[in-house]
Amino acid sequence: MANPAILTVDDDPAVSRAVARDVRRRYGDRYRVVRAESGDSALEAIREIKLRGEQVAVMLADYRMPHMNGIQFLEQAMEFFPLARRVLLTAYADTDAAIDAINLVDLDHYLLKPWNPPEEKLYPVVDALLDAWLATPDTSIQETRVIGHRWSAPSFAVRDFLARNLVPYRWLLTDDPEAARLLAAAGLTEADVPVVVTPDGKSLVKPTEADLAAHVGLSTTPASEFYDVAVVGAGPAGLGAAVYGASEGLRTVLVEQRATGGQAGQSSRIENYLGFPNGVSGAQLTDRARRQALRFGAELLTTREVVGLEGGGTTTRLLRFGDGTAIAAHTVVLATGVSYRRLDAPGLDELTGRGVFYGSASTEAPSCADQEIYIVGGANSAGQAAVYFSHYARRVHILVRGDDLSRSMSHYLIDQIKDVPNIEVHPRTTVVGGEGSDHLERLTLCDGRTGTTRTVDTSWLFVFIGAEPRTDWLGDAIARDRHGFVLTGPDLLAEGRRPAGWALPRDPYHLESSMPGVFAAGDVRSDSVKRVASAVGEGAMAVSLIHRYLEAQ
Ligand SMILES: Cc1cc2nc3c(=O)[nH]c(=O)nc-3n(C[C@H](O)[C@H](O)[C@H](O)COP(=O)(O)OP(=O)(O)OC[C@H]3O[C@@H](n4cnc5c(N)ncnc54)[C@H](O)[C@@H]3O)c2cc1C
Repeated sequence: MANPAILTVDDDPAVSRAVARDVRRRYGDRYRVVRAESGDSALEAIREIKLRGEQVAVMLADYRMPHMNGIQFLEQAMEFFPLARRVLLTAYADTDAAIDAINLVDLDHYLLKPWNPPEEKLYPVVDALLDAWLATPDTSIQETRVIGHRWSAPSFAVRDFLARNLVPYRWLLTDDPEAARLLAAAGLTEADVPVVVTPDGKSLVKPTEADLAAHVGLSTTPASEFYDVAVVGAGPAGLGAAVYGASEGLRTVLVEQRATGGQAGQSSRIENYLGFPNGVSGAQLTDRARRQALRFGAELLTTREVVGLEGGGTTTRLLRFGDGTAIAAHTVVLATGVSYRRLDAPGLDELTGRGVFYGSASTEAPSCADQEIYIVGGANSAGQAAVYFSHYARRVHILVRGDDLSRSMSHYLIDQIKDVPNIEVHPRTTVVGGEGSDHLERLTLCDGRTGTTRTVDTSWLFVFIGAEPRTDWLGDAIARDRHGFVLTGPDLLAEGRRPAGWALPRDPYHLESSMPGVFAAGDVRSDSVKRVASAVGEGAMAVSLIHRYLEAQ
């Protein structure tokens, strides 16, 4: 991070140089001296420093400057850096104006020109101001900042994307004074949010995920046109395939449409993954796996959705992206997992991202403090979310269609839930409607035993219901079961017959799809075990089958 700035502004070039020289001589090793010769150019420098997330410690401004005098400059500059210490440089004749400024801009000091010798007149003043400034640290440190509205789906989408990609950021509501300062520095208004200010000072207005990815250091363009293995989807299965592929010397690219980690990345605590006796959060596991894959040389592309697969008749497989570009590979691993089904009840679609969330949306947990929240679903994902949110919310209500959780949730989680006093399970209960003006305010629940409905006040609904594979883009290229899951290996053999169009003199390998050289791993595979460990295992196993496939080519 850059040193904090000491800013000097004086319209007389000789005086301006002199003050900057004297300040630099004593403070140049710890502070960056920024010199300007007009109020306007000093303000421009201030805006830039603000957007970069850097600090201004002290501002020294000459009183008599044309267009904008020193007091007017300090008044505007303190909008951006209210904690910076302020000094007015004055001639003896302007002492009265300087004294008035003490109230107007909360001036810390006025310094009569000339200040020679600086050891006696300048440095003791600046030393004291720097001590005072250091004692009141500014928390707006260099980081990505997101400015948005509390109940706004686009603002939520930006935060969720950054959180899932493990990019740390600071969230500022539009009514936060720091948000107002940043918007002003960027020449923007509330109408422009969500606005993301990057650590290098760029402000992105209503950014797309691809914009965000490009600015926060995520790679979006392939470095090569041809790979040994192209893995589609960076959940546990895809990450597993990338780690094993790259570590075994295969040129490996991992393509992810949204964020590494997939569903597992949303898990607050995975307790049944081998090697983590105290559990591990999905974010931690993802971070480790991603670093491991990159260390072995795998290339990771984010915000790239694969929309087509071609190459049935040849040995080259082509993956098409949404923007029309493509990459080619000898082999492909389909690891696209599953996505949550939408809850079909009137009013909920319009409120998605504004109180209704699919998946854990852990970014929202602190905002649920002391509130009543509702979770729909009876599987482990819903149970984990309930335990996680119970640390924040006043009460967590789990709504399940069935009689209890025993058929759908692991025992260890059912036991944990029983021990948490602020979690309540409502069996045979479904959501039949939601309403609210700009965000969710009420839910209508239906009791499956009696058919009666009731309305509850809440602003929070988290949905974890049955998942489905999003494999429509595969079209007829790959055989799928009636639910859309990819058929592999023995499942492709109908009464011993190989799939239509299969030209090789062997049966498909265990994880191989109906297109030779294209494998499926993890939740997207028909009849797979929907677990982190099995997804990782299948990713690894796909790579060993890929070696076998490549050797036979
Ligand atoms: C909240 C939650 C908690 C869970 N807890 C546990 C647990 O404790 N223990 C356990 O064993 N399991 C748990 N699971 C299940 C486990 O996470 C999944 O079984 C596992 O993540 C499946 O991995 P996968 O790689 O096959 O698919 P996914 O994790 O679904 O990843 C698929 C990835 O592919 C990407 N993708 C999809 N289509 C495309 C495309 N066309 N182009 C590019 N990318 C694409 C997706 O964006 C996604 O990132 C949990 C799931 C959830 C949601």
